[in-house]
Amino acid sequence: MENTTDRPMATPMSEEAGGKIRIDKIVDGTVIDHIRAGSALEVLKILGITGKTGNVVSLAMNIRSSRIGKKDIVKVENRFLGSAEVARIALVAPEATINLIKDSKVIKKTRIELPETITGVIKCPNERCVTNKEREPIKTKYQVVSRKPLQLKCLYCWTLVDESDVSTLFTG
Ligand SMILES: [Zn+2]
Repeated sequence: MENTTDRPMATPMSEEAGGKIRIDKIVDGTVIDHIRAGSALEVLKILGITGKTGNVVSLAMNIRSSRIGKKDIVKVENRFLGSAEVARIALVAPEATINLIKDSKVIKKTRIELPETITGVIKCPNERCVTNKEREPIKTKYQVVSRKPLQLKCLYCWTLVDESDVSTLFTG
């Protein structure tokens, strides 16, 4: 469907034909596309981008998308994502695609996938959970019980975590 391995970055950002959204193209960096509308700022937070970090960042919000209705897009120059960042983004933007840009070309496009179980990405809100023990805490493990809206269940104490709380519980 979206086979864009070498699509030049001059392509309009909108999915509509003749889309008029224009964002400066980047030479090297990352484009995170198909972010659920309204979640772009959470994605920036995950990336530690405050606006004072020096990276060139472009943000587009509430763009029409044939796939997910409305979407946000984040483009960050000279920034590439680690697996821990991708795991977090999967929780706030489970339909996102990550485009790796080198020399103004998309060299890799990855569709984020939210796994069935999530290990070590978010803390358990239950203070008495074994994963919150001060000594030798166990890595958290959640089962995805619902994807839309997102709901997770701690596999140690069965505490449920709702979508709205996920981004407040990221492990440090
Ligand atoms: Zn727990």
